[in-house]
Amino acid sequence: MQHIPVKQAHSTNWLLTADGQPRGYIAPHSLQELWFHTGTACNLRCPFCLEGSKPGDDRLAVMKLKEVKPFIDEALYLGVQQFSFTGGEPFVAKEMIKILQYASQYRPCLVLSNGTAPLLQRFSQLVSLSSAPHAIRFRISIDYPDSTLHDKDRGTGSFAMALKSLRQLYQAGFNVSIARQQPREENTDDITDQYHKLLNSIGLPQTIPVIPFPDFAPPFVQHTTPQITEQCMRTYHTSASRRQFMCAFSKMVVKIKGRLRVYACTLVDDDPVYDLGSSLQESMNKQIRLGHHRCYSCFAFGASCSEGT
Ligand code: SF4
Repeated sequence: MQHIPVKQAHSTNWLLTADGQPRGYIAPHSLQELWFHTGTACNLRCPFCLEGSKPGDDRLAVMKLKEVKPFIDEALYLGVQQFSFTGGEPFVAKEMIKILQYASQYRPCLVLSNGTAPLLQRFSQLVSLSSAPHAIRFRISIDYPDSTLHDKDRGTGSFAMALKSLRQLYQAGFNVSIARQQPREENTDDITDQYHKLLNSIGLPQTIPVIPFPDFAPPFVQHTTPQITEQCMRTYHTSASRRQFMCAFSKMVVKIKGRLRVYACTLVDDDPVYDLGSSLQESMNKQIRLGHHRCYSCFAFGASCSEGT
């Protein structure tokens, strides 16, 4: 697989593909879900991380409640249905509990976490949020249903801590799900069966959703994926399926170089082409051109970080 730095990969006219055809795009239709990137600081250093997160990383800065609040307020005005939080590790952010207290007053929330020490250390504070006006759900990363494979990249003990978080959150009354890695070739039935056995072994129901994610590659590289033209979008998608792309119904707020910015989705914050401005209202009027290599995953396989409320 060839890697090309993002800047070199852009053609001179972003509206066209490399061979001069109109580039495919998504026109946002609503703001159903607003994501916040809580920063690329993480307690773990996973080599596969699509955000390149690691201890002390500040590519995307940690957010504070006073920075998040105006976007929550604006999103409510625009009819948002859910607030979602990803990192890095959200519980590395000092104000994460306060942020969840604020957001969950208004809408259901989803938090993606590696389920290790930062979450467990704040568990007693989290428990108080189980009676928030709107439910808070947690998606815990358990890459494989096997401790050796999971701990190989995340570090010894990570698997045990993630299982402990999952069980404690569930027992405290929160809805939970699992994010797993999706190898290029897999026996999905067999993997699903292994997760069911794992859930059984810790006394949790098999109905807990397990959401697969393909390898999105680290930030700032561009896989050589097929170009997506307007013709492709008409041939292989319908108006209904175009509405299902994450960038059609969601946005993500990041803090980058000291400024709060709205990006097209959770997968493209390594490319300033997808910086849609400083306000949600402004971002809603902008078409999203499908030129990032991760856009091809959405186009071909329906990749999405979203999880309906
Ligand atoms: S990665 Fe997917 S959701 Fe994000 S901008 Fe590209 S097509 Fe849209």
